[in-house]
Order: sequence, then structure tokens, then C-alpha cells
Amino acid sequence: NRQRFQGKTAIVTGAGSGIGKATAIRLAKEGAKVALFDLMNDRTRSTEHQINNIYRGISRAFDVDVSDPERMEKAVHDAAKVFGGIDIVFANAGINGSLAPVDEMSFEDWEKTLRINLNGTFLTVKYTVPYLKKQGGGSIIITSSINGNDRFAGFGMSAYSTTKAGQVAFTKMTALELAKYKIRVNAICPGAIATNIDSTSEISEELEEIIIPVEYPEGAQPLADGPGQPENVADLVAFLASDESIHVTGARIVIDGAESLL
Ligand code: NAD
Repeated sequence: NRQRFQGKTAIVTGAGSGIGKATAIRLAKEGAKVALFDLMNDRTRSTEHQINNIYRGISRAFDVDVSDPERMEKAVHDAAKVFGGIDIVFANAGINGSLAPVDEMSFEDWEKTLRINLNGTFLTVKYTVPYLKKQGGGSIIITSSINGNDRFAGFGMSAYSTTKAGQVAFTKMTALELAKYKIRVNAICPGAIATNIDSTSEISEELEEIIIPVEYPEGAQPLADGPGQPENVADLVAFLASDESIHVTGARIVIDGAESLL
């Protein structure tokens, strides 16, 4: 069993479920100490329990809302103190939020999606970068989506897709700014992945008819029988977190089984 991340510390946001959970487990299995950032609930504690008690890794759950600046600043500080520095940052927490035609979307719902997905990404990066600089470098991975890509569009997804495209722009700008510190920043763009994200959707009546029947249609991902698995995404994040991707920065990597090529 290779220990690619021995001696490294990772912060994973949204570590209580789905892609964040699979990635936290993956990094811990390969030797990283992992700070699990999520809203404190049974799922987050379960990730911590699995890593510490089943996989004999090292992790600690932190009760953080990624969109709360004060809480983020303190939790990043605490994680760096507990684990002695930060090397890898996975800015992954996110919600689908309101799925509604633009004229029916409330301003509050629009703002909520932007606050969690975009402000959360900004705060995660802003508060961890000083610690990565101290280590002489590091790797930041941001979870965007194929919805953040040029051609892909979906009904009712103006808020969500705006945040996902914004994350790609943010990735490029910060990759350029941080290159001289040997800090790499890359975005991953998953297609449909089997997680709990659909439970975070607030679907308007009009869209219920359009969205629900077309979810995960057969053949939507030509490479697979159904949606991708969180562990598939964890493999990509581990690659981007490792020195095997040492010359990769500012990239946007699609992981969707060819879904966005149809
Ligand atoms: P998920 O709902 O299974 O997990 C998301 C986790 O983020 C949950 O544990 C949740 O508690 C946490 N979270 C939500 N808001 C938070 C906040 N304010 N502060 C802290 N934690 C918060 O969903 P997932 O699919 O694993 O989503 C992870 C990322 O992947 C998201 O950014 C999502 O947009 C992106 N993504 C998912 C898919 C997909 O099909 N599942 C596709 C493309 C992109």
C-alpha cells in the first residue's frame, strides 16, 4: 500500500457525504491527516469514525459552515495547529439550491447558492493559502461541475451554473497568482455522481415535470451504466493532490463518462 500522502495534512470541505467523504477516506488511506470540514451531523461523524476506527487513519471533524468567514478562519487555524500545517485543500462543499426559471427564483435563493458555493470556495482558499505558503507549496482542488463548462446547460440551473462557472474562473486566476509560491490550483468538473446532492435541490413546480423524469436517463454517461461513483472522483482528486500532477495548474478536468459530449 503506497503512502503518497504520508506526513501531509489535507482539509476537505463537504467531507460528510458524497465526493468529499470518498476523497477524505482516500487521502487518509494513503497516509494524509485529514481535517473534515462540514456542518456537524451524524454523517460527518461517520466519516471521522470510518477513517479513525476502520481504516486506522487520522482525521478530525470540524463543525464549519464554509460560507461563514469567522468560523472558517478559526477552523482553518485550528486544523493547522492540530495537524501541524496544511498541504492539500479540497474546496468541495456545495449545494444544488433553488432550481427554478430565472423569473421565479427568489433573490434569497439566488444569494444562498452563491453564498455557499462561491463565497465558501473563496473563504476556503483565502484562509488556507497562508498556511500552504508556509509549507513552501501545496495543492488546491476545487469542485466545479460540467455545469461550469462552456457548452453544457440545464433547466432552472442559472444560480448553480453561475457558481460552477465562477469557480473555474477563480481557479485560473488563483493558479496564476499562486504559481510563484508553488501552490497549484485545479478545478474538477464532474458529471452526475451518485451522492446525496439531490436532497439539496429546491425544485420549483414548473421544473419538477422537466427535471425529475430526465434525471440519470439511460445512456447519459456512455462510459458507464449509471452515474459515476464518488470513489471515481476521489481517484482524480488524489492525483491532483499528489506530486504526480506537479506540473498541472489552472486546469479544468472533466470527469463525466462522456456525459457532456452527447
Ligand atoms: P453531497 O450533498 O453528497 O455532499 C455535500 C456535502 O457538503 C454535504 O456533506 C453537506 O453537508 C456539505 N455542505 C453543504 N453546505 C455546506 C456548508 N455551507 N458548509 C459546510 N458543508 C456544507 O453532494 P456531492 O455531490 O458530494 O457534492 C460535492 C460537490 O460536488 C458540490 O460542490 C457539487 O456541486 C459538486 N458536484 C456534484 C455532482 C453530482 O452529480 N453529485 C456533479 C458535479 C459537481
